[in-house]
Amino acid sequence: MEKTELRPAHVFEMFARINAVPRPSKREEKMIAFLKDFGESLGLETLVDAAGNVLIRKPATLGMENRPTIILQSHMDMVCEKNADVDFDFDKDAIQTYIDGEWMRAKGTTLGADDGIGCAMEMAILTDDTIKHGPLECVFTRDEETGLTGAEGMQPGFMTGQMLINLDSEDEGEIFVSCAGGCRTTATFRFTPEAAPADAFFLRLTVKGLTGGHSGDDIDKKRANANKLLARYLYDGLKAWGLRLSDIQAGGLHNAIPREASCLVCIPFKYKEQARVQWNLLAAAAQEEFSTTEPTMEFLLESADAAATVLPEDVNRRLILALQGVDNGVYAMSQDIPLVETSSNLASIRQTEPGVIFVNSSQRSSFLSNRLNMAHTVAAVFELAGAEVEIGEGYPGWAMNPKSELLRISREQYVRLFHKEPVVRGIHAGLECGLFSEKYPGLDMVSFGPTLRGVHSPDERLLIPTVDMVWRHLLAILENV
Ligand SMILES: [Zn+2]
Repeated sequence: MEKTELRPAHVFEMFARINAVPRPSKREEKMIAFLKDFGESLGLETLVDAAGNVLIRKPATLGMENRPTIILQSHMDMVCEKNADVDFDFDKDAIQTYIDGEWMRAKGTTLGADDGIGCAMEMAILTDDTIKHGPLECVFTRDEETGLTGAEGMQPGFMTGQMLINLDSEDEGEIFVSCAGGCRTTATFRFTPEAAPADAFFLRLTVKGLTGGHSGDDIDKKRANANKLLARYLYDGLKAWGLRLSDIQAGGLHNAIPREASCLVCIPFKYKEQARVQWNLLAAAAQEEFSTTEPTMEFLLESADAAATVLPEDVNRRLILALQGVDNGVYAMSQDIPLVETSSNLASIRQTEPGVIFVNSSQRSSFLSNRLNMAHTVAAVFELAGAEVEIGEGYPGWAMNPKSELLRISREQYVRLFHKEPVVRGIHAGLECGLFSEKYPGLDMVSFGPTLRGVHSPDERLLIPTVDMVWRHLLAILENV
C-alpha cells in the first residue's frame, strides 16, 4: 500500500515534536516546560497555573479583534501502555511512530494521539500567521487520564474566553455536546451474626460469566447486573422459605457493571428441592431476558458445608428487601439527544468482615439535580432498611445547551465542508468539559477530534485522513465564529 500523505504537514510536525517529550499522567513536568518554552519562544503570553495547566494567548488576526475569544483545549498527558516484549521507558524515551496504510501507530506502545494530536493542532495554530481567527486561548490541561485533576484544579478566571472547543474526542464526524457527572452512594449494614438455625441446609449460589462493562457508557446496553440477578433469588427465597444469608461477595469495581456475584445462604432442610427448582427457573428466565447480551451467563447452585452463623432475621430481611427495591440501570433519557441522562449502578455487595456488609453504588447524570435525585432514591431505600448511608461529593456533568451558538456554527461549517450532517451526541461518562461547566457557568462548549482506535492500549492508532478533516473544520469555525 502506498504511504498515506501526512496532511496537514504542520500538524504532524508538531505531533512529532510532542512525541519526543515524555508525558505520563501525573509526571507531566517535561511537557509543561516544553509548552512554556514553546509559547514564550513565539513571544506569546504564556501562563502555567498551580495545577500545572498551560495557557497560551494569541491575539486576533488584524480586523478580527471583535470576535468572541475562543478557547482550544486538549490534555497534555498520555496513557502509558506497552507490549510486554518492548523495552521502553515512558519517562525518557520518544514515542516511535510508523505508518500502516491509512493509520499512524507506535512501535509497541500507546501512540499518544489521545490527546497529543489535539495539542499538535493547537500548536500548529499558534505558529501559523496565515490562519484567520479572533482572540485565542490555547489550553493544555494536565492529568486528564488518571483523575481529571488538571481540569479539576483549574481556578475560575484562568481562561477568559466565551467558547471552548475540546479536541479530545475520538470519532471524526461526531460533535459531543454533553457528558455525565457522577457520585457514589454507599450503605453499610452492621450487625451481630447469629447462630445458624438447627435444621438449615446451606447452599452456595453463584452467577458468573456476564458481559459487564462501563457503568456509565454501557448502562443502556441491556447487560445483566449480577448483583441484581442474585437479589431476585434472595427475595423469592426470603418470601417462600425464610432464606437466610450467611455471606455475600458480589460485584467489584465501583465503575463497572458487576459480572459475578456469589453468596452463601441457608433454608430449612425440607425446602431443598424447591430451592433448586426456583434457582433453575431464575436461570431460565434470565437466559431468555438476556439471550442476546449475555450469551455466556452461568448459574451455579452447590450444596455447601454448614456455616456457624447467619445474619439476624431482621437485618437479613431489611438487606434483601433493599437489594430488591433499589433502582438500577437507566433512570432517564436525554430530552435533546439519544443518550442516557441519568442512571445508577449497584456495583458491589460485600461482607467485608463478620457483621459488616458494605454496598457500593454509583449514580451518573448530565444534570447535577437529577444525579442527586438518583442518589437520594438509592440512599432512601437503604435508609429505610436501617443502613448507614453516605453520598459522596462526586464530579459535575455537562448538560447539552440546545441554544449553543458554537454548536450551530460547528454544524453549519461541517455541512458546508463535507456535505453531510455531523452526528451530535453526548457521553454518559465524565469529560473535562463537565468540570469546566461547573467553574465556568455559561461557557459555550463542543468537543470533537480525529478518529482514534484502540486508545489506552499499544493498539492505539490514528486515522490519518481524518486529521485534515478536523483541521479544516476547526479553521472554518475559527474564521466564521
Ligand atoms: Zn483523552
